[in-house]
Amino acid sequence: MELKRLIANQPKPFVIAGPCSAESREQMISTAKEIAQKAAVSVLRAGIWKPRTRPDSFEGIGEEALTWLVEAGKITGLPVTTEVANKDHVEKALSAGVDILWIGARTTVNPFAVQEIADALQGVKIPVMIKNPVNPDLELWIGAFERLEKAGVTDLGAIHRGFSFYNHPKYRNVPNWEIPIAFRERNSQIPMICDPSHITGNRGMVAEVAQKALDLNFDGLMIETHLDPDHALSDPAQQVTPNSLKSLLDSLILRTSNVPLNARDFLIEMRDKIEVIDDRIFELLTARMALSEEVGQFKKENKITVLQQEHWAHLIQNRLSKAQDINLTQIFIRQIMDAIHQESIRHQVKIMNK
Ligand code: PEP
Ligand code: MN
Repeated sequence: MELKRLIANQPKPFVIAGPCSAESREQMISTAKEIAQKAAVSVLRAGIWKPRTRPDSFEGIGEEALTWLVEAGKITGLPVTTEVANKDHVEKALSAGVDILWIGARTTVNPFAVQEIADALQGVKIPVMIKNPVNPDLELWIGAFERLEKAGVTDLGAIHRGFSFYNHPKYRNVPNWEIPIAFRERNSQIPMICDPSHITGNRGMVAEVAQKALDLNFDGLMIETHLDPDHALSDPAQQVTPNSLKSLLDSLILRTSNVPLNARDFLIEMRDKIEVIDDRIFELLTARMALSEEVGQFKKENKITVLQQEHWAHLIQNRLSKAQDINLTQIFIRQIMDAIHQESIRHQVKIMNK
């Protein structure tokens, strides 16, 4: 079974669901049955070996739970997937008959571990999904794909599960959507799944992030689903019940990326206008930097430092206070001003060093 074909042949959105961890045979099988009965799900997931942050947390049942997952798959007729983090996991998952493997975020960060998995999979025909590394490093993520490809594993999928950030007020793992988008630009043939459960860490926000992923044309979703989330042995706050999974999936709006004919002319016209404005923005930035260079020349001749902190703080404050009037967010203004400032410093330093 090829992952891409499986996705293409299933109703949209393509959904992988199941508990964070397989906790008991009874939990695994009844969760799977309930999910299959209630929601349009294409693949069943469960963690068997859990990479936990703290040592005394539940670390998964291990090998015995593989048989429960495979049995749950047989009963429901769904292919099953689990996380592997080393050679031993790979061998056990393959001999138990797991259909699809995934490499977790904490493993993708470690080239030794990914290489060990790639070596263990040499010559094996099985789809493998690779979660992004916990840190926002596109090259590290792509490197993991290259290791598997070199081992002859070519049926690959990517899972975007967000990036770790100390004390973030909103997300458990910040989505940084530009990274999966950049990934797709470079690897358009690899399906991209979103895992809103690990991005949000909070079941109340799963739908919102799932919708965002669909709007960005992701190929599918992985959603942690548990019969009794509050008593789950891992990730209790983010798991949803099979019933909530159904209503969540029903609430999602599927938009097409094929623009209907009657909308095309309007879009072309608007995009042309936007392109013209973008051209102007860049022309203005070029003019802005030319002025910076003149200022740099002046500072050089008069032995004045490049950076004048109070002046800059004043400029930023002035802009930020006008954010509302010009219908832009303060965070956007801050980012754009910082980017302009950094570029301006580069231009001035270039002049200083001439
Ligand atoms: C999981 O899917 O249960 C998991 C451990 O995810 P991640 O690797 O994204 O933390
Ligand atoms: Mn989990």
